[in-house]
Amino acid sequence: MTVKILLSGSKGRMGTAIKSIAEDNDCIISSSIDLGDNPENDVKGCDVIVDFSLRDATRPLAEIAKSYKKPIIIGTTGHEKNERKEIEKLSESTPMVWAGNFSTGVNLLFFLTQQAAKVLDINSEFDPEVIEMHHRLKKDAPSGTADRLLEIIMDSRKLADKDISHGREGMPGERMVNEIGSHALRGGDIVGEHTVMFAGTGERIELTHRATDRVIFAAGALKAAKWSIGKDPGLYSMQDVLGLKA
Ligand code: NAD
Repeated sequence: MTVKILLSGSKGRMGTAIKSIAEDNDCIISSSIDLGDNPENDVKGCDVIVDFSLRDATRPLAEIAKSYKKPIIIGTTGHEKNERKEIEKLSESTPMVWAGNFSTGVNLLFFLTQQAAKVLDINSEFDPEVIEMHHRLKKDAPSGTADRLLEIIMDSRKLADKDISHGREGMPGERMVNEIGSHALRGGDIVGEHTVMFAGTGERIELTHRATDRVIFAAGALKAAKWSIGKDPGLYSMQDVLGLKA
């Protein structure tokens, strides 16, 4: 079955990547939406909505998905926690797949980070730091993927947002046991790199994913779009789509 997609953010880098591989993935873009367009005009003709646009566009689009009972795949990043929680509530009446990163490799990185964080717990004397690098045009920091990696370590160590140290400067003092470092590097055309480092005494573990082509995110989003059809209402992650649960 060919899946009809309403694509929001269609003129952007991700929108362009999705359009370029849609046909090869048994999908057609039934509607291309960008800034200034009204998605409600076209929503009836699609099977699923895909959002790779700007933070402020996600909520109104998710409300349309809810009203018309269309599954929605959200790739847009940069939402505040509260805003995200409000949007997630809209999944009560339609399937919503939300992933800060749709690549298979990154979702494996999430899985491996969960495993590593279980072994290297807060009593292990291994210090976790998350480092991400992206192109110079990226607007939000840290990336949605880095946020998820931080969240995985935070949950495993029973820590909170206040324990994350974003880009140290000045005299922050000695590193605390309950600290997770977060560093965002920007420049050039880097598609996306993420490293989770657990630094111990005399040894260090680093888990790294390097994306070299944004087509990996596009392929994952289309995989999620096809998977979402016929699913029960609810909030899903790419881990659900790929069957990767720790
Ligand atoms: P981009 O700036 O190249 O494109 C964004 C597009 O959205 C632009 O064409 C812009 O005009 C459009 N837009 C702005 N406001 C809109 C609105 N109200 N309605 C519809 N369209 C609107 O950005 P990009 O690199 O394509 O990334 C888009 C988003 O996806 C970002 O938040 C980025 O961080 C995220 N992203 C997620 C993944 C993932 O796997 N989840 C991967 C890459 C990028």
